[in-house]
Amino acid sequence: MKIKKTYSFAFWTSFYITLITSCALFLVAYFFLNTTLTLNFLLLFIGVIFIVTFLISQYRLEIFIYQRLKKIYNSVSILDSSDFNKTSITSDIDSLSKEVQKFAQNKQEQIKILTLRENYRREFLGNVSHELKTPLFTVQGYLLTLADGAINDKKISHKYIERANKGVDRLIAIVKDLDLISKLESADLNLNKQPFNIIEVIQSVFDLLEIKTKKRNISLFLDKQYNYPIQVIGDVEKIEQVLTNLIVNSIKYGKIGGTTIVSVTPFEKEKILVKISDNGEGIKAEHKARLFERFYRVDQSRSREQGGSGLGLSIVKHIVEAHNEQIFVESEFKKGSVFSFTLEKVENI
Ligand code: ADP
Repeated sequence: MKIKKTYSFAFWTSFYITLITSCALFLVAYFFLNTTLTLNFLLLFIGVIFIVTFLISQYRLEIFIYQRLKKIYNSVSILDSSDFNKTSITSDIDSLSKEVQKFAQNKQEQIKILTLRENYRREFLGNVSHELKTPLFTVQGYLLTLADGAINDKKISHKYIERANKGVDRLIAIVKDLDLISKLESADLNLNKQPFNIIEVIQSVFDLLEIKTKKRNISLFLDKQYNYPIQVIGDVEKIEQVLTNLIVNSIKYGKIGGTTIVSVTPFEKEKILVKISDNGEGIKAEHKARLFERFYRVDQSRSREQGGSGLGLSIVKHIVEAHNEQIFVESEFKKGSVFSFTLEKVENI
């Protein structure tokens, strides 16, 4: 408890009480007892009365204010026991009102954050259900047609089953990406950082994507022969995911018969830059700022046609940023795009 001493109230209260009682005493003595009080006695009486009333008033005042303020503090700390409770109770109204203002500001900021989160949650839910709806309805459509009799026509049934299966593949891809992004966004993203050879990882991603590249007749290669390993530090599985997403995009949005080139170059003193360049459709400048947002697509139908979930680049950004690294994009519409990200070289660890 910290009480700011405000004596003026107690002073004036005791002053008036002393004045009234001294006058009363003087008059009673003069008229009823027929004596005049000695100056010494009168001064002693004034002194005692003044000090006693002053002390009582001051004491009562402090207790009164303290109890009232304590109530305010208690009711505020019910709302926010964390920060308000820590401060000692003060009867200094100025600092009290400052504290209450600070408290209100704090609450306003918290409300703002909660509203933002709520909006984000609502938007995210809306996006997810929208994403799932399209392939689900496609699958349902084919299954219903099959059930309505198309199953008896061998030619059609085969085609429809294949299409329904494609829809299921899309659903699985979306759910997988959603699962990954929710894991990445939860605070417990555990990076299993270790040294690895980035060239080897790039090669294994090339091998994994061979069929995809062939389908679109895209040549996928490294910019030069890397005869020596380039050791970097990071979570190898997650970096493989980054490379896969970026290379898959370069295939999806690259032109048929086009080229995707991956290069590894030194960046600043202790880093390297992994660059994925394609000569595909490119991205207009106005889209660049939003490219890494969840579910953002430049061309909705083109992305869906290519089986994209709209989450690929946001997954990439999450992983790169969790490594405390940077991601860059340069693109020219109709000419091609270059996505690049940094990684720490092993020598510096
Ligand atoms: P999607 O599942 O739609 O591919 P991404 O998050 O991977 O989602 O990409 C978001 C959007 O960015 C894509 O829809 C596409 O329009 C654009 N994009 C991504 N990579 C490239 C690229 N290499 N070339 C042109 N556009 C691209």
